[in-house]
Amino acid sequence: MVKCQVIMDAMEKIAPHNLAEKWDNPGLLLGNPAQKVNKLMVCLDVNEKVINQAVSEHCDMIISHHPFIFQPIKKIRTDHAQGKMIQTLLHYNIAVFAAHTNLDSAHGGVNDILCTLWGITNTAPLDISYKEELVKLCVFVPRDYADQVRMAIGDAGAGATGNYSHCSFESDGIGHFLPLDDSTPFIGKIGEISSVNEIKLETIFPAKLQGPIIKAMLKNHPYEEPAYEIFPLNITGDNNGLGRIGELAEPMELEEFSLMIKNTLPATSIRLVKSNDKTIKKVALCSGAGSEFIGRAKILGADIYITGDVKYHEAQKAQELNINLIDAGHFGTEFPVVKTLNDKLATLANEKKWNIDIIYDNCSIDPFITI
Ligand SMILES: [Zn+2]
Repeated sequence: MVKCQVIMDAMEKIAPHNLAEKWDNPGLLLGNPAQKVNKLMVCLDVNEKVINQAVSEHCDMIISHHPFIFQPIKKIRTDHAQGKMIQTLLHYNIAVFAAHTNLDSAHGGVNDILCTLWGITNTAPLDISYKEELVKLCVFVPRDYADQVRMAIGDAGAGATGNYSHCSFESDGIGHFLPLDDSTPFIGKIGEISSVNEIKLETIFPAKLQGPIIKAMLKNHPYEEPAYEIFPLNITGDNNGLGRIGELAEPMELEEFSLMIKNTLPATSIRLVKSNDKTIKKVALCSGAGSEFIGRAKILGADIYITGDVKYHEAQKAQELNINLIDAGHFGTEFPVVKTLNDKLATLANEKKWNIDIIYDNCSIDPFITI
């Protein structure tokens, strides 16, 4: 058993809230962070069927991709679908948490899962909506304590870049200070100028980690009043956003590529807008409803764009732009995240010894069927 908050914290690492689009409504939509969770269910949508599965399998929490409360609710009518769902969830004390566009944009999220499924590498976001703000910390530490402080701030996330962590630079110098009457100096005497061999430790980290990193530094620094500086930087860290653009390892013919897309998704059919006969090497995609990025995919040089919910005039636009387009369905491009998120949470539960059961939605199907 764990508290709902523990699962929420884990989800914050998987799909940080700040990656959500402004219009979105992710997070804990129903329930209490303090409530106990023994069994968790992962799904795409919260609907009557999913709730029935959650109730019959005694789940305490549901994590869905689509937020089932999206617009502000003015009335809760239990004779209407949404009111009835809220009533059932409250009756059985089932919390509901949503990770939506933040899970689309996150590293390892919905779009990256599609890239893995289709063998697309060298990827970048199709539409960058978030650039990580970076800051630099300079802290002055007596030499004997440099390793301790360096390790503590590194453990808190400072100096992480690509496949490296705990990156920093140090230079030697001498620190001078005069302890005043009410001080309790670690080195030196009240009323006497002290000069100490110190190192200047410099490192970079995302601004959002400033709180825990400074806390770790202060906890491990021996001085009563450590001297440190924080500078905003004119460079950014990770880029995040919706969709992906990347490359196939080997070019594929359009028909062969289209069949591969169909066969790797939970879709009985896909729709192809064939605009040219080019072989496919550079691929752009956006899970769910991403027609708005057809032009962006073209500008970035994609040979094909894959998304869902494509309308007639959007298909015509792709033809006008001479870019191939696949509508693989909203459900088809998003449902793969359910099993992957289930597996990710199950691994975490095992590592952290949460002692909870995790299941996933086995009752949802694409509302569209092909006749
Ligand atoms: Zn969606």
